[in-house]
Amino acid sequence: MAYQSVKGMKDLLPVETAVWQELERRIHDVFTRFGYDEVRTPVLEQAELFVKGSGETSDIVGKEMYSLVDKGGDTLALRPEMTPAVVRAYLQHGMGAESPIGKYYYLGPMFRQERPQKGRLRQFHQFGCEVIGGGDSAVDAETILLGIAIYQAFGLSEFLVKLSSLGCPVCRPPYRETLLAALTAVRDSLSAESQRRLATNPLRVLDSKDERDKEATRAVPLMIDHLCPECTAHFAGVRRLLDASGVQYVVDGRIVRGLDYYTRTVYEFISTDLGAQDALGGGGRYDVLVEQMGGKSTPAVGFAAGVERLLIVLEQRGLLPHVVHTPDLYIVAADADSRDAVFTHALALRRLGVTVEIDLLLRSVKAQMREANRRHARHTLVIGSSELERGIAQLKNMSDGSSADVTWNVAEELAARVTAR
Ligand code: AMP
Repeated sequence: MAYQSVKGMKDLLPVETAVWQELERRIHDVFTRFGYDEVRTPVLEQAELFVKGSGETSDIVGKEMYSLVDKGGDTLALRPEMTPAVVRAYLQHGMGAESPIGKYYYLGPMFRQERPQKGRLRQFHQFGCEVIGGGDSAVDAETILLGIAIYQAFGLSEFLVKLSSLGCPVCRPPYRETLLAALTAVRDSLSAESQRRLATNPLRVLDSKDERDKEATRAVPLMIDHLCPECTAHFAGVRRLLDASGVQYVVDGRIVRGLDYYTRTVYEFISTDLGAQDALGGGGRYDVLVEQMGGKSTPAVGFAAGVERLLIVLEQRGLLPHVVHTPDLYIVAADADSRDAVFTHALALRRLGVTVEIDLLLRSVKAQMREANRRHARHTLVIGSSELERGIAQLKNMSDGSSADVTWNVAEELAARVTAR
């Protein structure tokens, strides 16, 4: 075969797109129920947006971002995540003027040049939300409940919510120094990667998957135990609302998330079915990003979750929505003379909302019947010269094998029959 899709980027074939459409429909439904509005931004942005927004020391920018120089000499990037893009759109279009709080969601492809493996692709899809303009704990809690509601819309209840707080510009800098001192003391026991991170992003050492790092950092101080009074109160507020909503969660002071912009609440949705790539999604509060990107100081919260990871879990649990698109009716043309009538009649029925298929390959009656079966058509109708003449034809119900005479050329009548369930 001459051409192959790019490594780590997958085609979605018809059997899969039917499931994806259903998945997307349910995701749109839940966001809408919570009062969130969809935003769609371009997949290409100025690379600088992510360098500044997501942060140079984050893996998704430092290691994984697809960037390119276009013919005009601009350095662009395929978006590795949505948060900076949504904030850019928010500022560019002055969306803050519409309301003091904007609740947005998205669903679309993201790109990261990672090593492909199960649950890790180079083009993958995320759904997520960004609430811009709310500083209260209720916003953090609402986004967590929203994520849970989406998983529940698929019947998924067995996953873990991990929760922590990363503090704020008041309490994080002194904690960072305390952590740095503690990590420096065990430096020689750390992995090479973590030793490098000491200089760039010491917090990331805490969520390293490397056993040496886990052992060496067992006793280091955690941000969650060094929060200022305001952050402590904010975190207590989030917990209170989650408790009142009956949410099962665990506080895990080692969640740091990979991105620079988080402040206060951070959380992850973890699946027990995913193995090494166990994160279904994650997010948190980012109270300084909007200002950093040129807006006025505006608190914000959001999460992003993987569609492909959700699909893996649903498949393992037998919860994949079963969707097959089947025609209500397949009209077989019995001879050359009836083809035009079949063609125009199919159109009339489609205009009435009926799903109709006809043969486009001038095939024999037998081959058309075979095709109707292959497509799992719910009814078939054979039109030949005598049916054309009489206006009566036999409608066959393919599921129970019964047939009945119908006035086939009165579209409304036939439409009512083949769509009745
Ligand atoms: P992140 O923005 O890295 O926290 O990612 C949020 C979610 O997106 C993760 O929890 C995954 O479900 C999904 N995700 C991230 N990277 C990938 C990838 N390379 N392939 C598939 N899903 C991913």
